[in-house]
Amino acid sequence: MHVVHIAVEMAPIAKVGGLGDVVTSLSRAVQELGHKVDIIFPKYDCMNLSNVKDFHFRQSFFWGGTEIKVWFGKVEGLSVYFLEPQNGMFWAGCIYGRNDGDRFGFFCHAALEFLLQIGVHPDILHCHDWSSAPVAWLFKEHYRHYGMNKARIVFTIHNLEFGAGHIAKAMQHADKATTVSRTYSKEVSGNPAISPHLYKFHGILNGIDPDIWDPYNDNFIPVAYTSENVVEGKKAAKEALQQRLGLNKSDQPLVGIITRLTVQKGIHLIKHAIWRALDRGGQVVLLGSAPDPRIQNDFVNLANQLHSSHGDRARLVLTYDEPLSHLIYAGSDFILVPSIFEPCGLTQLVAMRYGAIPVVRKTGGLYDTVYDVDNDKERAQAQGLEPNGFSFDGADTAGVDYALNRAISAWYDAREWFNSLCKRVMEQDWSWNRPALDYMELYHAARK
Ligand code: ADP
Repeated sequence: MHVVHIAVEMAPIAKVGGLGDVVTSLSRAVQELGHKVDIIFPKYDCMNLSNVKDFHFRQSFFWGGTEIKVWFGKVEGLSVYFLEPQNGMFWAGCIYGRNDGDRFGFFCHAALEFLLQIGVHPDILHCHDWSSAPVAWLFKEHYRHYGMNKARIVFTIHNLEFGAGHIAKAMQHADKATTVSRTYSKEVSGNPAISPHLYKFHGILNGIDPDIWDPYNDNFIPVAYTSENVVEGKKAAKEALQQRLGLNKSDQPLVGIITRLTVQKGIHLIKHAIWRALDRGGQVVLLGSAPDPRIQNDFVNLANQLHSSHGDRARLVLTYDEPLSHLIYAGSDFILVPSIFEPCGLTQLVAMRYGAIPVVRKTGGLYDTVYDVDNDKERAQAQGLEPNGFSFDGADTAGVDYALNRAISAWYDAREWFNSLCKRVMEQDWSWNRPALDYMELYHAARK
């Protein structure tokens, strides 16, 4: 099977959130199953080309009143075609910026035109979110008549919050549509963009790439570890993290938070949790960036306040920093994800891979992946799993307290049990092994 993804984010070269991770890691998993996968991507000026191997100019074509240069390179072993319109659409800014609807609309059209011009006829065209949704209707309205008629359109919604109009239109034209967890697919089933199309709409959980997230092979952490030496590995990582951020180097429960700072992520709950963890004698490290300058300012103020009141126990790093994120996953005892809604969430999966215990709100993919040690034993067993974290229901501070207090108490009072929990979560498989098979089944069904 030949799958072509048309997407505007891709880890690690140009990524804002989970969408970028999924494009890369799903593609790798499907390629590893023996299928051909290509990615068509905008050539942003901001891209870090050091992560692109064998990068070279390939050809030019003319479309939409401009020359479009096509570059080729390998990213994480995947073949990527980079489109660079000479009208400069992707020269300024980075991924998202001004006139995104026009820029990405143009890109989707150019991507289909490119496939047509080079005579490639994929089996599946996979597009993602509002940004490459136009592929669905442009293909159905124009390109399927031009020799690409065997292609089927798969459309994945990573987040329904943005671009409702585009999503509704893509849902209409896609042969199959997915979103990134079963629970989120149920939560959004009443949305007017989705409800007419439930017969072709499926929830398939995201995975994480175990090679990219691997505490046994990670340049950003001090001691390589597996579940066998998790205690030793995490102790070294915690000390390195404390050293790097100027925190007190004592053994205290450390709560990590790695997130975009947006309303979706439960900002008021995050703030409350910081104070709660400090009250309980813990340390807190937050790595987060806020697209909204008001929220960023708010957190700058909080960071200053914490610096004077709890300078040796709390640090807020208000930027995007991939290497630091690895050290936080490894050095934290807990990773907190108190989202208001969460289509899938990757943070809790990465946390488990690094033996950090997830403390999450029960919504969307968080519900499908985190099973509370006190409340979800049966639900976990139905999935063939042991419970793996702490969770709460309500989007209020009492909910956070309920989960975080139990988590921190376990750390203080039942350390051996806690260490065995860290080992257990590391051994759970949240890779693409299973979801990639689900996608293959969906691709086959789309072609029937
Ligand atoms: P979303 O896509 O809604 O942001 P996900 O949980 O699906 O949330 O994906 C978030 C991804 O981005 C994870 O890989 C997480 O480690 C990473 N991430 C989020 N914020 C930061 C940050 N400030 N610095 C580094 N990595 C981050």
